[in-house]
Amino acid sequence: MSESLSQVLRQIPSVDRLLDNSEVLALISETSRPFVLNLLRRVLSGIRHELAAGTEKEYTESQIEKQVIERLRLEFEHWSRPCLVKVVNATGVILHTNFGRAPLSQQAQDHLRLIASDYSNLEFDLARGSRGKRDLFPNRLFQQILTCEQAIVVNNNAAALFLILNSLAEGAEVLISRGELIEIGDSFRIPDILKKSGALLREVGTTNKTKLSDYEEAINDKTRLVLRVHPSNFRVVGFTSRPSLPELVEFCERHSLPLIEDLGSGCLVNLEPFGIDDEPQPQTSLESGVDVICFSGDKLMGGPQAGIIAGKTDLIFKIRRNPLFRALRVDKLTLAALEGTLLSYLKHREAEEVPSVRMIRLSVDSIERRANALVDRISARNPNLKLKIIDGTSMIGGGSTPEKGLPTKLVSVEAAGLSSGRLERYLRSADPAVLARIENHQVLLDLRTVFTEDEDHLVEVLQKLMCQR
Ligand SMILES: *Cc1c(COP(=O)(O)O)cnc(C)c1O
Repeated sequence: MSESLSQVLRQIPSVDRLLDNSEVLALISETSRPFVLNLLRRVLSGIRHELAAGTEKEYTESQIEKQVIERLRLEFEHWSRPCLVKVVNATGVILHTNFGRAPLSQQAQDHLRLIASDYSNLEFDLARGSRGKRDLFPNRLFQQILTCEQAIVVNNNAAALFLILNSLAEGAEVLISRGELIEIGDSFRIPDILKKSGALLREVGTTNKTKLSDYEEAINDKTRLVLRVHPSNFRVVGFTSRPSLPELVEFCERHSLPLIEDLGSGCLVNLEPFGIDDEPQPQTSLESGVDVICFSGDKLMGGPQAGIIAGKTDLIFKIRRNPLFRALRVDKLTLAALEGTLLSYLKHREAEEVPSVRMIRLSVDSIERRANALVDRISARNPNLKLKIIDGTSMIGGGSTPEKGLPTKLVSVEAAGLSSGRLERYLRSADPAVLARIENHQVLLDLRTVFTEDEDHLVEVLQKLMCQR
């Protein structure tokens, strides 16, 4: 180490000395000594590295101390707050996996808060005064809503599919159409789940065409079940075909093979009037005779992350008896949010109460009215911001209906002298962050996915932009 460097490093105040600093003492009294000490050591080590990396500049001890305190305050702020934060989703993608998919309804939030903050009858039968089962809560509601024999809930739909295959087909063959061997964002691959479950994959047909006779030919004495997968975010278009559900049901009955269907989204209400005509409803599959279905709780159903498994009693009980069910089960928070969400469906109140369903149903007119009001509020004060309302498309997201969008009105934002990239970054740096879309070098805001309570924040952030410059 050079003479001058060791001299510089000696200027760094000691931890003991810093612990006498009034600002450090204030932070300690707000939190704890070990917490602040930990941050202080991080700051000092950072400064030591920077000085060693070598600027020729001379520092006095008090200059360095000032630096340390300044950085300590920043670190303190950073570590005193949660990292998982609320964002304002102005992208128009309703179920964005990166933004936590479905926002919970007020009813789900209220129930969640109550159950989370107190004791509950999670596994206690109040009538009998003895041990109960946590499965009962979602089961009774799904029996009503889906008209199914039984339903159980696990951590997510990936876990649901894994558990079904492991329980019903470990060491045996599963027939699946080659066109359904899909990967769903975030590297969820049907063949990988199958392999890990211990089931053996038997591909049937070709990528774009699978006939009943292909299934017929693949059957052998190791065949245990037939799996059908809704190819959520993937479409083979053009020259394609696969057997219809009733055809496959009839085929499975004839060969005494259970038919399992992974529906992906779990669209509990008919969204055809809103242009979503390629999302199968769980009720329809069960009615058609599928033995066991599974779907996500936080996609089109609009509830918490969960995997729902529903169907015939004997199969569901077999799945439930699998020791892995215990490893994949959900906690009381999920159950509470799920019950809160399902009660809305039971009362047919989902259109008003479940945010994702409400957002899908918003009319273009109502979005345009809000967009106009927003533009008026900002433009009145801000001649430097150019706001325009243009036609656009909202997306369902969450791996659903890849081609179908919902017509919407977008607010395009232009700020004089600011590239779209920098404008998008500015919005993202707000607190809470505003997440926008960029298309053709335009920053676009879709109010379909913005809660009306957040519109004031949006206006404020855009107004501040002009004050800053
Ligand atoms: C989304 C999806 C899954 C995975 O569901 P998660 O709840 O995210 O685990 C599985 N299968 C299909 C068809 C899907 O669309």
